Amino acid sequence: MFSFDQARQIVITQAKTHLGPRPTISLAIPDALGYVLAQEIRTDREYPPFNRSTRDGYAVRASEAIPGAALRCEGEIKAGDTVSQPLRPASCLQIMTGAAVPPGADAVVMIEFTRRERDRVIFDRPTLSGQNIVPQGSEARAGELALSPGLRLGYAELAVAAQVGVATLLCYKKPRVAVLSTGDEVVPITEIPGPFHIRNSNSVSLCAQIRLAGGEPVPLGNALDRVDDLSTKIEKGLQEDVLVLSGGVSMGKYDLVESVLKGMGAEFFFDAVAIRPGKPAVFGRCRNTWVFGLPGNPVSTMVTFRLFVIPALDILSGAAPRPLPLLDASLSEPVEEKSGLTHFLPARLEWSSGVPHVRALRWRGSGDIAALTQANCFLVVSADRPDLRAGERVSVLPRSDVL
Ligand code: AMP
Ligand code: MG
Repeated sequence: MFSFDQARQIVITQAKTHLGPRPTISLAIPDALGYVLAQEIRTDREYPPFNRSTRDGYAVRASEAIPGAALRCEGEIKAGDTVSQPLRPASCLQIMTGAAVPPGADAVVMIEFTRRERDRVIFDRPTLSGQNIVPQGSEARAGELALSPGLRLGYAELAVAAQVGVATLLCYKKPRVAVLSTGDEVVPITEIPGPFHIRNSNSVSLCAQIRLAGGEPVPLGNALDRVDDLSTKIEKGLQEDVLVLSGGVSMGKYDLVESVLKGMGAEFFFDAVAIRPGKPAVFGRCRNTWVFGLPGNPVSTMVTFRLFVIPALDILSGAAPRPLPLLDASLSEPVEEKSGLTHFLPARLEWSSGVPHVRALRWRGSGDIAALTQANCFLVVSADRPDLRAGERVSVLPRSDVL
């Protein structure tokens, strides 16, 4: 059985190997958040476009603004003002943050370090040439690469596109991900369940996780644990880039997902991973679609999506697969688990005086989604070190939607 790291690596290798050219779409900046850029974006001019003051103060010649010196203030420059007149000898100009430093001036002295006496400014400490000025072109040269293809567009990336005047961005289309839950006991969330039925919460969590990961969910409802219904609905899912199923991959008599997929020509790259929850997770390819069969217990579905589906969606989105953002924390209370499997336990990460502390939450196993709403991370208990003492350094996988 593969470890979760090995299983992730299998997903990444497979997804990269079969990656063909991806379709693109042109999007206005406000619509492009979360997409992956498919073009180069270059600067239209130097940044900053002029020598920019980073402080409110006085533009001076550093050699003149020495302790005890008094310079005549001959005017002011605010952000946006056109600056052409050079600074005259033995004078200074009041200047605001973001304004252009006049020719001849080579430093800005913060207003806090000066005294004003009518039109004279008195300096009380030495001034260094270049202080509080960002030189023209020091952030970027004109025509320099500002954003590269493959970059996921967050708020900073969109701001750079806006700064250089590119209002429409060529992006990769989001991968389409079919979501199919399975199980005779599963009813739509709009229906009143019978006493032994459950509502289809997995389709909801999966669609949400797909959206957060940068995919486009295509909900297909639920298939009964019958070959005919599974085949018909899986057939629909195979129209998309990825098909994610929940349930029907364990060892039970009615766990038919794997065998139905095999019958439809699927090839599997793993069909179990040494983790809990989520051990029966399967990953394969059927025709031109990646298929993930995730176990149906809701927390198992969520954890296995987090571990295995996200890297595939990253690659299909045109980006590099994100590494798992594991953090170090100090364990608040001891934990005892069975060895042999890596456990992902719902847990709470908190910072007391800046130091991250984590505590596993009480939960009733992989059906307990209520416990998960109290969790902001998973405590990772490794297969070979299942017993952990309070105070030990442990690994934590944040819930990226809430932390
Ligand atoms: P399975 O992996 O098919 O054996 O499902 C395990 C358990 O997960 C079931 O007994 C249900 O309690 C639960 N489950 C399965 N599918 C769903 C679903 N779509 N939504 C919520 N819970 C589910
Ligand atoms: Mg089932």
